[in-house]
Amino acid sequence: MHEVWTISETYEGRIKEVSLELLARGRALADTLGVALGTVVIGYKIPKTELNSLIEHGADSVYVADDPKLSSFTCNTYSNVLVQLFAAHKPQIVVSAATTTGRTLMPYVAVKTHAGLTADCTGLAIEENTQNLLQTRPAIGGNILATIKTPDHRPQMATVRPRSTKILAPDSSRTGSIEYIPISEDWFSSEVEVLGMRALEGQQGAIDEADIVVSGGKGLKKKDNFKLIEKLAVALGGEVGASRDAVDRGWEAYPHQVGLSGKTISPRLYMAAGISGAIQHLAGIKTAKCIVAINSDEHANIFDLADFGIVGDLFTVIPEILKRLESRSEA
Ligand SMILES: Cc1cc2nc3c(=O)[nH]c(=O)nc-3n(C[C@H](O)[C@H](O)[C@H](O)COP(=O)(O)OP(=O)(O)OC[C@H]3O[C@@H](n4cnc5c(N)ncnc54)[C@H](O)[C@@H]3O)c2cc1C
Repeated sequence: MHEVWTISETYEGRIKEVSLELLARGRALADTLGVALGTVVIGYKIPKTELNSLIEHGADSVYVADDPKLSSFTCNTYSNVLVQLFAAHKPQIVVSAATTTGRTLMPYVAVKTHAGLTADCTGLAIEENTQNLLQTRPAIGGNILATIKTPDHRPQMATVRPRSTKILAPDSSRTGSIEYIPISEDWFSSEVEVLGMRALEGQQGAIDEADIVVSGGKGLKKKDNFKLIEKLAVALGGEVGASRDAVDRGWEAYPHQVGLSGKTISPRLYMAAGISGAIQHLAGIKTAKCIVAINSDEHANIFDLADFGIVGDLFTVIPEILKRLESRSEA
């Protein structure tokens, strides 16, 4: 029986947490189907301990493509690796992360393999009679949940929202195989030469993988005031987010934009200050575990979705929160 696969991502030689989340998803699907769970790692010099951790977290087989030319993510090359692997092993389901890498890579793979792809799923299950993958994702600005099937093409592919799955506890007694794939020169394209990598301005922390996100909107009034949001994010150990109006004004960089045309996020805590709660913004935070809103307008839409609402001037409320956080850390 064909395996269920996940695509593991790495950062500076370490397996990213989201890859362990995918293994929990994949394990559940593989167990329901009674098949093995494989995972693919593409990179360079990924330590054995990291590859073993994939087995400890649920994988039965780890397929590794390891080469200096694979050390940086390039879409064409990585998709060539996957297409070749799919042809050789014919996984029936492939699950990747809805991260910047996953969202960029998987559409390429879908086109090259003539397979379907459902982006940004929050639920995956197996249909009882057909054993098709049921791919559930919020649609129409998060107002409905759509379940999508791919009955005619294989593999069935989906990307899954980071932070929407609990990682399985590591089990060091689990056994599995680690297979290094022979490198093929066909993978590499002469059209792309990687000269170096550098983070985009403001891209230090990925908000879609953060546990805590503190966002600011037009209510901040000017760029300089965004320092307040940054201070609160640092004090809480979180990342900075922003509404589209704040991004359009150049107060924050686009990778920080939350919402329909920005990022969809599921942090444990989302704080929104000076954000009205337009439907396009709310679409990006519907799966956040706890939402705290600060707004001077008691009728602001954001309060309809918020778990805790603070009606007040953010320029008074945030310094007060910072003061309390400081006194707590000193105690
Ligand atoms: C196709 C499309 C896609 C879009 N995608 C996105 C998206 O991805 N993300 C997104 O955010 N928007 C998106 N938008 C834009 C969206 O419709 C809103 O325009 C935007 O979210 C508003 O941003 P805001 O809440 O910062 O500003 P406003 O709506 O102007 O809200 C500012 C808020 O700050 C409050 N405020 C003012 N002063 C203070 C103060 N001193 N203290 C406390 N509160 C204060 C006000 O009461 C107000 O509620 C999209 C729109 C379209 C048409």
